[in-house]
Amino acid sequence: MTFTDGFTYRDSVLTCDDIPLTDILRETKTPVYIYSLRAVLDRLEQHRNAFAGLNHHVCYAVKANPSLPLLQVLAQAKAGFDVNSRGELFRALRAGADPSRIIMTGVGKSREDIEDGLAAGIGWFNAESASECRLISEIASAHGSTATLLLRLNPDVDAGTHPYISTGESDHKFGLSAADIRSLAAQASWLPGVHIGGLAFHLGSQIFSALPYREALRHLMRTLEDITPLLELQHPVIDIGGGFGVPYEEDGESLDPGIIAEMLLDLLGPQSDDVTLITEPGRSLVANAGILVSTVEHVKPAHDRIFLVLDAGMNDLLRPALYNADHGIVPLRESLGTVTVFYDVVGPVCESSDTFARRYPLPELDRGDTVALLSAGAYGASMSSTYNSRPLAPEVVVLNGRWHLARERQPLEDLLRGERPFTAPEAPRA
Ligand SMILES: *Cc1c(COP(=O)(O)O)cnc(C)c1O
Repeated sequence: MTFTDGFTYRDSVLTCDDIPLTDILRETKTPVYIYSLRAVLDRLEQHRNAFAGLNHHVCYAVKANPSLPLLQVLAQAKAGFDVNSRGELFRALRAGADPSRIIMTGVGKSREDIEDGLAAGIGWFNAESASECRLISEIASAHGSTATLLLRLNPDVDAGTHPYISTGESDHKFGLSAADIRSLAAQASWLPGVHIGGLAFHLGSQIFSALPYREALRHLMRTLEDITPLLELQHPVIDIGGGFGVPYEEDGESLDPGIIAEMLLDLLGPQSDDVTLITEPGRSLVANAGILVSTVEHVKPAHDRIFLVLDAGMNDLLRPALYNADHGIVPLRESLGTVTVFYDVVGPVCESSDTFARRYPLPELDRGDTVALLSAGAYGASMSSTYNSRPLAPEVVVLNGRWHLARERQPLEDLLRGERPFTAPEAPRA
């Protein structure tokens, strides 16, 4: 399991920071998410080291995993945050984030999103349309404040990733064309309350080649040159988004951000001292630092296959159903047996897409055995839902040899929180 950070077998039991996961399960039961915060901090450090030659801020993309203790340790490590909504902003602030290191991104910022961002004094807003620039200007000038905008360029490059997680092509909803950016820059002096600080792009997720970044950077640099005289940009900000690919399979490769850093230094030349670089990694910091542990509810032989029915479903981990994503699956107890069975590993939700893997080799398992779905730290819990009225799974973080319940299992009562059933007199009669 070389690709899964922070989890290893000791005495045939899967552990995190030397804690046998079976100890944790005794209290939390399953399904449960478990994250190694040491692994997240190590990835953060590697990411920063890659860009050490530049004036660099890392803004962790909160949507990948918004667990509060995880955000807290990142804030303590002086990471910034990329928030996509006022809800993510609320979380980041609650976790102790420095507002001046927060960037608000997203294609559909609402008035409330923008107001909250301004009230918190966040560092930057990505702006993705002329309409958004006008709205930010209107709100900021009414508040007597100034917002720093990074205009998001749609660089029209194919990131070579899954269509659902690709965001940088001209037919995608994201970003502005270079021509739009030029015309906005020309009008910027007419927009009170905003100051254009630089340019941004985000190409998508799970990108394994540096080439799309190179193409997008070239496009961004040309656009920056065009608008620099209009704006007197002396210290532009360049935000290259996230998307750094990570492996979901044994012996898979990651995209080394160091290659992108070298490319940037090369493209910028002596200007590199004047530029502030922002990166927004999400998945690459957390994906392999988390697992989802689940118990086998039933083993169900069918005519040509054997179903392993787990107590975790697509409501807990949506990626296989949504993107056909693969997650490695391992038994919590390393089996001493040698029999391999090919299982169709499925969840309990009433959808055929509630399938984690087909014909997946595992040791022979029984009802009550536990397995870990690997690489579940990114877009796992954050995309979970209560579909089929299944409570949200608990989340555990592990750091320095101790574990902490970051989120309790959602009580059934909370499934009804905010709901307002008819009370007797109003109840309609059949
Ligand atoms: C989702 C997103 C990210 C993070 O992407 P990862 O693939 O998780 O690194 C960064 N920036 C923006 C604007 C995003 O929408």
